[in-house]
Amino acid sequence: MSNQLDQYRGVWTLAEVRQGKIHPVSFELLAWGQSLAQKLGVELASVVLGSGVGDQVDQLIAHGADKVYLADDPALLDFGVEPQAGILTDLIKQHKPEVLLGSATTTGRTLLPVLAITLTTGLTADCTGLDIDLTERLLIQTRPAIGGNVMATIKTPTGRPQMATVRPKSKRPLAADPARSGEVIKVELGPEQLASRVKRLEFTPEETVGAPLQDAEVIVACGKGLKDVKNLKLVTELTEILGGSLGATRKAIDLGWLSYSHQIGLSGKTVSPKLYLGCGVSGAVQHLAGITSAEKIAAINSDPEAAIFQVADLGVVGDLFQALPLLVERLKQNTEGSAS
Ligand SMILES: Cc1cc2nc3c(=O)[nH]c(=O)nc-3n(C[C@H](O)[C@H](O)[C@H](O)COP(=O)(O)OP(=O)(O)OC[C@H]3O[C@@H](n4cnc5c(N)ncnc54)[C@H](O)[C@@H]3O)c2cc1C
Repeated sequence: MSNQLDQYRGVWTLAEVRQGKIHPVSFELLAWGQSLAQKLGVELASVVLGSGVGDQVDQLIAHGADKVYLADDPALLDFGVEPQAGILTDLIKQHKPEVLLGSATTTGRTLLPVLAITLTTGLTADCTGLDIDLTERLLIQTRPAIGGNVMATIKTPTGRPQMATVRPKSKRPLAADPARSGEVIKVELGPEQLASRVKRLEFTPEETVGAPLQDAEVIVACGKGLKDVKNLKLVTELTEILGGSLGATRKAIDLGWLSYSHQIGLSGKTVSPKLYLGCGVSGAVQHLAGITSAEKIAAINSDPEAAIFQVADLGVVGDLFQALPLLVERLKQNTEGSAS
């Protein structure tokens, strides 16, 4: 078995294409990939599947890829798990990378479990840390477990490639170096690889306030302290004035106030805004797990003992139903004042 494992060399990342553009999570993965590849003393490759994306592969090289495998075909315009998994399975069987990283996005969370089956190997989902155990060339995969109370360290000693999905925003991309050079390998695709039993009828973007949470610079998050869905307008108005995005705790999501895509935390999104403001958020460990990379944390909570105050840079102990209207009024005055 170990002889077979020794045939696998190299680190690969899966680049993600959304609406025809290579998404920035692809560059975060390359930053992870480069640190692993350097430790292993191997090449770093990125695989991109899409339509008309050939002129963007330079970005992957500039962000650290030594090689790019490019599968470019109109049939790959929209994400389809069957063709993507099929193409990747063939490529991996042919080139045998020892590590394969994907993002813990909807795409990565859909695709990599299928690969784990087709390649008969292990997968650790939602990692927040990766390293190499050089004695055995094993990928050390770290992720929160048991409700975020422990960090689990997972290895894949008997399967290859060693596969992990990594939480977006868990590492900053390397600065792009346009002078870097790399090899682009075009993947030949046959009709059987592009076939899919799934047909996409339409795409309906979800309605949210502001940019996607992972890209937001300002986030206003609401918790159960908001008491009722009809009070959402209080946080929505503040979010819009600040030009931010609206987030929520799991309790607010479970109450049906907002859709799951707004959830921040262990079983939601990891965010890294310049400013996070929690309104009626207690600061449970599972929620805090998603905001540890925020530059500044502010909170409004009526309970002075609320856990969120232990991590907050600025805390307002008070009733959000009084504090939020005052804050909105003051911000509006400031905006009007600076406009006149
Ligand atoms: C496996 C697991 C995964 C989980 N994943 C997540 C996750 O991803 N994200 C997440 O958020 N949670 C997650 N949770 C749930 C988490 O443990 C907490 O239950 C949740 O975060 C609490 O949400 P909350 O702060 O809105 O509610 P509460 O804990 O009920 O807090 C409400 C807060 O509002 C304050 N408040 C009440 N009235 C007012 C007022 N008028 N003005 C100001 N403040 C007021 C209260 O003092 C209180 O602190 C997870 C739990 C488990 C077990």
